[in-house]
Amino acid sequence: MTDVDALRQDVAIANRILERMGLSHAFGHASARIPGTNTFLMPTRRSPGLAEAGELLVIDTEGRLVSGEGEPNSEFWIHARMYAAREDVGGVVHAHPPACVCLTQIGEPHRVVHNQGAIFSAGVPEYARVGLIRTRELGDLLAKVVGGGKAAMMRGHGITTAFSDVRTATVAACYLEESAALQLRMLSAAGGDATRLRVFSAEEALPLADQIAGSVARRAWDYFAAVAAANPLGSGQK
Ligand SMILES: [Zn+2]
Repeated sequence: MTDVDALRQDVAIANRILERMGLSHAFGHASARIPGTNTFLMPTRRSPGLAEAGELLVIDTEGRLVSGEGEPNSEFWIHARMYAAREDVGGVVHAHPPACVCLTQIGEPHRVVHNQGAIFSAGVPEYARVGLIRTRELGDLLAKVVGGGKAAMMRGHGITTAFSDVRTATVAACYLEESAALQLRMLSAAGGDATRLRVFSAEEALPLADQIAGSVARRAWDYFAAVAAANPLGSGQK
């Protein structure tokens, strides 16, 4: 198997993870940059739960279809312009996870409330404009909101994560949704009073950076990939 073939497998698994873990259903997508190029692998316009390694498209950062059969997802500009803006980014995930959407709609920013959430201790900026990212200009706008960071919350829409590789971007997306779901439960238990949450300080979060690196991240990927392989389509939906 070539490196690009292995990457195709990872992109297909990443997309299926998004659907099986309940981060997306009919919509959402994960992509990976083909290393050393301005092109990336992305599924065709269908549920991420149906992604297949052999059916991925190759698209460039100008939004041109380079190879593959089929129509790209309409929000491919999210990926194209993130890779254009950030040479260090090798994997991008865009999904519509419900707890993250809820947080945006009650005006609560993401807070670090458990260990895995600590990877976002620098904050998750909000892209406040509602609606889909179907133009190059909106893709650039979203990339600007993410800036040099790891993710953005998208009001009434979902999230985008940007990391060095697609596995990390996918694990991070799962962590972000887990974190948002816990934050909502804590807010509810605290009668909606955000000041009662014992949010991790920057100093407390710092030693937890390894939650998205090395063996910890590998373990998370292996688990999410196994869930995606073992469970039928739709099983992760909430
Ligand atoms: Zn979307």
